[in-house]
Amino acid sequence: MKTFLIFLGPPGSGKGTQADLLAKTLQIPSISPGELLRQEVENKTVIGRKAEKIMASGSLVDNSIVEQVLLKRLKKKDADKGVIFDGFPRNYAQMSFLEKELNNFDKKKVSVQALYIDISDKEAKKRLSRRRVCICGATYHLDYNPSKKKNVCDVCGKKLMHRADDKPAVVTKRLKLFHKENDPILKHFAREKILMKINGERPIEKIQADILRKLKSVL
Ligand code: AMP
Repeated sequence: MKTFLIFLGPPGSGKGTQADLLAKTLQIPSISPGELLRQEVENKTVIGRKAEKIMASGSLVDNSIVEQVLLKRLKKKDADKGVIFDGFPRNYAQMSFLEKELNNFDKKKVSVQALYIDISDKEAKKRLSRRRVCICGATYHLDYNPSKKKNVCDVCGKKLMHRADDKPAVVTKRLKLFHKENDPILKHFAREKILMKINGERPIEKIQADILRKLKSVL
């Protein structure tokens, strides 16, 4: 059985943190187009150069670019048993693309579930203003989840950064865009009866336990 889990939620909802924890338990990779794109930017690739300014402004990168990066990642061997999507789909066209890709598999051998991590805009703004990230994908929060050494990643030792798109003005824009693009996706997954809502304003371990409990009944 292949498992495809789709994590949805506003920026700062903790979907990346939850997806990574779940990936370890289920032994399938968590794939974040945002992370893949940041690596392209870091490596100064053609894609990275195209995406950099768009990402810093808080807008969405072209669907064709994101889909290209995603398909390349999905071809890797570790994605054989399924994957967790963290930050995809982000608009209706991406959702249609994903459904088409998943339809290539035998329906009886595939399990698809969407999880919406719900937090208020106020909470999202509060979290992102103090979020710090590493290029390796590790995420920290200055108050709730600080790195052991100030500004240094616990995992790889590189310098942490406050993402350009986590600055307050850009966050407001991202949240507005998120709601506009995400609402139709939520409605669609609810109609398909594959949507779970998770209260994201709780401690990390409590949310993870809730996710595992809810998934047990469907996977
Ligand atoms: P994230 O790390 O998920 O917050 O994504 C950071 C940025 O990468 C977003 O603000 C977008 O500019 C870009 N990005 C990530 N995922 C997508 C996607 N599915 N579609 C378009 N752009 C994306």
